[in-house]
Amino acid sequence: MSISDVRAALWGDKKHTHGHITHVLLDMDGTLIDKYFDDYFWKHLVPQTYAERHNISFGSATGQILALYKHHEGTLNWTDIDFWTEQLGIDIPALKEQIHHLVDVHPHVEDFLKELRKHKKHVVLTTNAHYKTIAFKMKKTALGKYFDKVVTSLDMGVPKEYEGFWISAQQTLGFNKKDVLFIDDTLEVARSAAHYGIGYVLIKNMASSREITSNNSELHSIDSFSELLPD
Ligand SMILES: [Mg+2]
Repeated sequence: MSISDVRAALWGDKKHTHGHITHVLLDMDGTLIDKYFDDYFWKHLVPQTYAERHNISFGSATGQILALYKHHEGTLNWTDIDFWTEQLGIDIPALKEQIHHLVDVHPHVEDFLKELRKHKKHVVLTTNAHYKTIAFKMKKTALGKYFDKVVTSLDMGVPKEYEGFWISAQQTLGFNKKDVLFIDDTLEVARSAAHYGIGYVLIKNMASSREITSNNSELHSIDSFSELLPD
């Protein structure tokens, strides 16, 4: 599979006027929206706030908090902002609001979403994020109008890293695995979708605008959504 195969399956080619892909499932943070916001928030602003509250150094706050993150990584707690509000004694939604200006959409995302609508694809936001995080990000970016549905790991009962997520997503959305394109910036998640048999799985590189990432995995990747736009 190459990127031009994905484009043909999406938009059609010389032989086919329609691409056979019916459903396009898109991750939110890092894929559509610049992950710099989350990196700055969780790795800088949260430890800084915690340090101020407890009158400890930024270094020791970071140490304690990273240990907590690690403990809950890959679980539903990880993305549950109510859990973190309680665990850290910090009002997470209010703190996010303070840096809302850092929420930014990656280049060409809207162009791609507009083409998907034009070609009548089922467009699904597929995310481990908490519904409060989704509402916050959609309000800041105005991307919500492009989606037919939102499928979250809380709804599905397990994060996207697990097969159970894909079984429930297929039941909920009623797709044929082979006619689905899924894009995510997290390798583990993309692997899980590919392993389940999702027909087209791509990794989105450059999750954060401040970090250069490259993908050396067995899966195909894009640096920008411009690579998927029709001719
Ligand atoms: Mg992501």
